[in-house]
Amino acid sequence: MAVKNVKQIISDVRSIQKSRENTYRERALKLFPWICGRCSREFGGKKLRELTVHHKDHNHDHNPPDGSNWELLCIYCHDNEHSRNEVADAYDNTSTGQTTEKDDGFVQNPFAGLADLLKEKPQKKD
Ligand SMILES: [Zn+2]
Ligand SMILES: [Zn+2]
Repeated sequence: MAVKNVKQIISDVRSIQKSRENTYRERALKLFPWICGRCSREFGGKKLRELTVHHKDHNHDHNPPDGSNWELLCIYCHDNEHSRNEVADAYDNTSTGQTTEKDDGFVQNPFAGLADLLKEKPQKKD
């Protein structure tokens, strides 16, 4: 029962994240070369899906048009980056919780689980 709810929430969050990401992701892809900022792998074509936009200050609502808060990372390095900063993120959430919209915490908390889900997909080859 609880599992179903979590899955529902995750799929909701995924679609919210997807629509948000499409906006800044496209902008970031126009600004930066399609290379992971950590492992320096190049991306293009179908593989471009695996290149994600990381927010340097971890605030997904902070999207300056010059791209100064963005970094292109492949999903693996992105996942690493977030698990490394999990503690910092948690602190950030509580300290800014009052000034940011409450959907922020909603989106950020399931992120670790999401990354795991996303990891499974690209490995599937057609
Ligand atoms: Zn990478
Ligand atoms: Zn990130």
